[in-house]
Amino acid sequence: MAGGSAGGNNAKRGGQHFGVAGAGLLGRLLAFELLQRGHRVSLFDPAPSLTQAPPAGDPARAAAWTAAGMLSPTAELECANEAVFQLGLDSLHRWPGVVDTLRRTGHFMPNEVVLTRAGSLLLAHRGDEGAAQRTLALLNKKAPASHRPQALTAAELKALEPDIHGPAHAWLLPHEGHIHTVRTMAALGAWALAHGATFHGGEAGQVLAVPPGELHTAQGSQRRVHRFDHVFDVRGVGARPELPVRGGDPGFTPQVRGVRGEVFWLYAPGVALHRPVRLLHPRWRVYVVPRPGNLVVVGATEIESEDRSPVSLRSTLELLSAAHSVLPGLAEARVVHSEANLRPALPDNLPASTHQPGLSCINGLFRHGWLIAPALVHQALHTLNLAAPASPHPVPA
Ligand SMILES: Cc1cc2nc3c(=O)[nH]c(=O)nc-3n(C[C@H](O)[C@H](O)[C@H](O)COP(=O)(O)OP(=O)(O)OC[C@H]3O[C@@H](n4cnc5c(N)ncnc54)[C@H](O)[C@@H]3O)c2cc1C
Repeated sequence: MAGGSAGGNNAKRGGQHFGVAGAGLLGRLLAFELLQRGHRVSLFDPAPSLTQAPPAGDPARAAAWTAAGMLSPTAELECANEAVFQLGLDSLHRWPGVVDTLRRTGHFMPNEVVLTRAGSLLLAHRGDEGAAQRTLALLNKKAPASHRPQALTAAELKALEPDIHGPAHAWLLPHEGHIHTVRTMAALGAWALAHGATFHGGEAGQVLAVPPGELHTAQGSQRRVHRFDHVFDVRGVGARPELPVRGGDPGFTPQVRGVRGEVFWLYAPGVALHRPVRLLHPRWRVYVVPRPGNLVVVGATEIESEDRSPVSLRSTLELLSAAHSVLPGLAEARVVHSEANLRPALPDNLPASTHQPGLSCINGLFRHGWLIAPALVHQALHTLNLAAPASPHPVPA
C-alpha cells in the first residue's frame, strides 16, 4: 500500500475508537492490545506500509526497525533508573505472550527464533579493567542481588560462547534476552491489519497536530480532522513540539530530541553466537547481537545529533574493530547493511507518559524501547481503565 488507507473492519466492531499517531513500536503494541480487547483502532504514520520497513535514512523509518533488540534490564542500569529496570522485568514477562500470539496466528514460522532468554554477556579486555570495574560497580549498586553480573571463568565463557576469543574478563547477566525487532515489527503490523485496524499511511498518515480526541492531517492544502474517543501520541522523535508538560508541571516542557545510533548487519556464517555481548570499553559502547540467518547486528553509537545520514567512517572503524576484537571469526563477515536512526529521548533520558481526557502521550523510550514498551503500554491501559475487554466477546487473538 503506497500511502492512503488500508485494512479495517473497524466499523463492524464495538468498543471505543482509538486514533494512534505513530505506528512505531508503541503504536503497534497499543493496537495489538486494544484490538484484542474489542476496540477499534486507526493507526497513522507517514510510512507507506505497516508490514515493510521504509528504507534506511527515511524519517518514517521507526527507530524500532533499527534497534538491535537487546532486552537488558540490568545492563541498561548503566544509564537508566530503578523504574526502567522494573518496566524491563515486567516487559520480559510480557514479550513471550505477544510472540506466542503472533506465532499462533501465523505471523511467525513455527520454529522461527524471534525471542530468546539465554542471558547476555559483558566482556572486557585486559587494560580496560578500569572502565569495566566502573560499570560493574554501578550495576552492582543499582541492581538487586539476584540480577547482578556473575563473573565467568575462561572455561565457563568458552562453554557458553566458543567463538569468543580475546577478552580477559567476562560476566553473565542470566536474566536478559533479545528479540528480532524487524520480524516483530512486521508481524505486529500484519496482525493489526488482519484484526481490523485501519491504517492511514504516507501523506494521509502524517499527523500535524494532536488535540484531545482528534488527529489532524492534511490532504493537499486541505486540513483534515479525524475524531476519536481517545487518541495516543506515540510519534517518537516526530512528536515535537506538541508533547505536553510532564506531570502537569507548567514550568517543565519536555523537548523530545533524537539521539543518533549507528548499526551494522554482518553476514557471518562461520560465527556462532548464542546471546548478545557487550564490550566494556573506556570510549565506546559496542554490542554484538545474533540474528537468525547467520546474521549479527553490531551497534551502536550514541551521538547527540539528529542526523540520519549514513554511518560515518569513524563509527565503522570503532564499532567493527571492537566487535572483531572479541569475535575474530568476524574477519571474513560481509557487511550487508548499515544504517543510522534516532532514539527518541527526553531531557532526563527517561520515559514519560501523560494522560488527559481524550489524549495520552508516551515518549522518551530512548535506547531501551524494546525493553520497556510492553509494560508502558499496560500501564497506560490500566490508567485509562482499558485493561479489561471492552465487550464480552473480544477479538480472539
Ligand atoms: C540504533 C538503535 C539501537 C537500539 N537498540 C535497542 C535495543 O537493543 N533495545 C531496546 O530496548 N531499544 C533499542 N533501541 C530503542 C528503541 O528502538 C526505541 O526506544 C523505540 O523504537 C521507541 O519506540 P517509539 O514507538 O516511541 O518510537 P519509534 O519506534 O521511533 O516510532 C515512532 C513512529 O512515529 C512515526 N511518526 C513520526 N512523526 C509522525 C507524524 N507526524 N505523524 C504520524 N506518525 C509519525 C514514525 O514514522 C515512527 O513509525 C534502539 C534504537 C536505535 C536507534
